[in-house]
Amino acid sequence: MFATAFLDIPSLQLAGGTVTLPGSKSISNRVLLLSALCEGSTWVHDLLDSDDTRVMLAALRQLGCSVEAQAGTHSVCITGLGRRGADGKSVGLKKPTAPIEFFMGNAGTAMRPLTAALAVMGGDFTLKGVPRMHERPIGDLVDALRLLGCHIDYLGTDGYPPLRVLTPQLQLDKPIQVRGDVSSQFLTALLMSLPLAAQKDIVIEVVGELISKPYIEITLNLLLRYGIEVKREGWRRFTIPAGSHCTSPGEIHVEADASSASYFIALGALAATDKAVRIQGVGASSIQGDIRFMEAATQMGARIESGPNWLEIKRGAWPLRAMDLDCNHIPDAAMTLAVMALYADGPSTLRNIASWRVKETDRIAAMAQESRKLGALVEEGPDWLRIHPLPQGQWRAASIHTYDDHRVAMCFSLAAFNPDHQAVRIEDPKCVAKTFPDYFETLFSLTQTPAKRIPVICIDGPTASGKGTLSSLVAQQLGYHYLDSGALYRVTAYAALKAGFSLETGHEAAIAAMAQKLPVRFEGDKVLLDNQDVTEAIRSEEGGMNASRVSTLPAVRVALVALQHSFQRLPGLLADGRDMGTVIFPGAPLKVFLTASAAKRADRRHKQLISKGFQAKIADLRADLEARDALDSSRSVAPLKPAQDAMLLDNSDLSIEQSVTLVLEWWQSKQAFSA
Ligand code: C5P
Repeated sequence: MFATAFLDIPSLQLAGGTVTLPGSKSISNRVLLLSALCEGSTWVHDLLDSDDTRVMLAALRQLGCSVEAQAGTHSVCITGLGRRGADGKSVGLKKPTAPIEFFMGNAGTAMRPLTAALAVMGGDFTLKGVPRMHERPIGDLVDALRLLGCHIDYLGTDGYPPLRVLTPQLQLDKPIQVRGDVSSQFLTALLMSLPLAAQKDIVIEVVGELISKPYIEITLNLLLRYGIEVKREGWRRFTIPAGSHCTSPGEIHVEADASSASYFIALGALAATDKAVRIQGVGASSIQGDIRFMEAATQMGARIESGPNWLEIKRGAWPLRAMDLDCNHIPDAAMTLAVMALYADGPSTLRNIASWRVKETDRIAAMAQESRKLGALVEEGPDWLRIHPLPQGQWRAASIHTYDDHRVAMCFSLAAFNPDHQAVRIEDPKCVAKTFPDYFETLFSLTQTPAKRIPVICIDGPTASGKGTLSSLVAQQLGYHYLDSGALYRVTAYAALKAGFSLETGHEAAIAAMAQKLPVRFEGDKVLLDNQDVTEAIRSEEGGMNASRVSTLPAVRVALVALQHSFQRLPGLLADGRDMGTVIFPGAPLKVFLTASAAKRADRRHKQLISKGFQAKIADLRADLEARDALDSSRSVAPLKPAQDAMLLDNSDLSIEQSVTLVLEWWQSKQAFSA
């Protein structure tokens, strides 16, 4: 996840490859609860790993279900509470006899259905959560359950958790009335729990217009997978037939989240010209309402092929076709259409989207405002949005405000495919964690862009100038990759000596051959050679001197070029060394040459060694530094010197924070984002 203040997405060009999306949250928790109400075991595959599902699994364990997770996978096996009589027929549930206290954290999607199931099942249960959970209303559900004869008490404020649930005296002869316009989660909770009490037909009647029908459809579909066939008359009346009970399907796959799929469907439509974008885990027969985004994307020109749990998307019509669409059935995914519309052949209108105004933020205002920053002409009404396409030559680099709304952030990443090659800045990129923590990493893994468009910042300078600390801090703030090129020379020297070579011209060819296939890996702060941790070994003073010697061999330097170039990956690179700006990345848009006086550097190195418990004399260290400086500056190839266009930074009298701020300011001045 990018936890930076902003993420600059460079101009992107092509897309292709396979992506497996995280499981749908709505489906995950429904499937867990239904599996717990079955007799026997159910393997649940592709489960979403999130706070809400972890809370649900913990609660099921407390109830007496066995929950077996398969390490390294997203699969769990749930053995449910159902019992069968001698005749093989279901005879209700194995109920816990002792009181149980459940801790629900802040997991709303676990709290509601579990409360309903426990209230119908009966026992002695307490349900609590974090303070925020105790501020989230549950009164509507409790009122309806009480009307059925459930016994629920409030332990704190009326209408809010914590709750105590005891044994009910159910009265299910008359139709149960629920309000349809409050929350569909409520009807879902009843539909999943009442089969536990279906000695006779149970009828539920919806009063008022039912909102969020697609979510009720998910519930009905899943109930069917568990053998419960709810009869539905329109959206007004639902009947759970007498004798209904949960039957395990044996195994079940949780579909990938269809709203998350919309970004990758759009990605294919915009940029997959050769290889398709393949989405694994959700297909055209998905039970999630947002899958119908496919039809809208097709209408705009996407070419989509699909199977039961996959989709393959390629660019079809180009430019995309403008459209005028009622988006009421796909409110979340439709935001993605707004960004696609920037690439269309005329103005596109999204209608019937009043609900956008009351989501994480006012999404109509947000989409309009942020699209305008890109240069687009946008019109908005109370429940509609019209986006005019942005022709080539008129795109601007924009800093997109994301309003703590994951969907705004994900949508606008797609603006990076603009024909003017403008970068897009996404503010507060970590807001995507709500549904898709690795969204940007996934996007970058599917997109290609020419190396010249992936920014590199070079920080070169002599030994002990503080390059390493400065570079890794700047890389962290920008979310960029980090290349410590000195470590490559250190590892090469280490490996060469271990192989029995001397670091002299006589062994140059052999060491170069070895360097070309150097099995080195960087994992966080660790350097691994052939899977062996060599971090400490190469960091010694002697390791530095050996690196300086091996680095004077021209063939070795050439052998390490491709490896260094391979670090230039999306979204960008911070490269530190001696010749990053002069030889390895000569086209880098920002080059910094970092120096400090020899006295300061010796002093810093001394403090560093002492803090690690090593003895050293400042005078010796200074002599050593000066010897390495001399060797690095006098060698025939790639000698240490500032690039012609480098910014000089003498940090003798600067704190590390001051140096970081200065480099970031220089970087900002190289690129203008309209805010
Ligand atoms: O930066 P560090 O002290 O780890 O580098 C070790 C040695 O590797 C340097 O003294 C220098 O001789 C060599 N080096 C190089 N070119 C680079 C990075 C390091 O020659 N880009």
